[in-house]
Amino acid sequence: MIETLRSKGAGNPLKCIQCGSCTSTCPVNLIRDGFNPRRIVGSIARFNRIPDQDPWLCSTCSLCSERCPQGVNPFSIIMALREVLYENNGEAPASILKMVEQVKETGLAFPFTPGSVEKRRLLGLPEAGVSSEGLREIRRILSEAGFK
Ligand code: SF4
Ligand code: SF4
Repeated sequence: MIETLRSKGAGNPLKCIQCGSCTSTCPVNLIRDGFNPRRIVGSIARFNRIPDQDPWLCSTCSLCSERCPQGVNPFSIIMALREVLYENNGEAPASILKMVEQVKETGLAFPFTPGSVEKRRLLGLPEAGVSSEGLREIRRILSEAGFK
């Protein structure tokens, strides 16, 4: 598992000293006791298998990696775990899959609201959106990343 994660650009869990700086700075840990980046990294280092915590809970703020004194980059480990879960079982929350569908359709993760469209118009800004060339490129990237 460690080698698979490393091949996806993850940091090295074996450098972790279990100091807990990542967990103490993690905003998700504040509201979800069960989510603990120190334990995620520790259990990978110790058991070399997918931990039983849900990596999809991570907010992707990257604070854990900023604070880690060992340069372990727990955030990169969690992102690599997501990749492995998706590749192995197509496992991802419905909300994420819906967002991917939306990116495929429009090139945007979050659509412009009617209010923001109107604000742009009033400010004389160009119409918002992704060019057809950009959209083709986004679809190519998604396809290469394994999203059908
Ligand atoms: S901050 Fe780094 S060294 Fe400390 S527990 Fe988290 S991953 Fe391990
Ligand atoms: S990137 Fe994820 S694990 Fe790291 S501090 Fe932010 S929410 Fe927590």
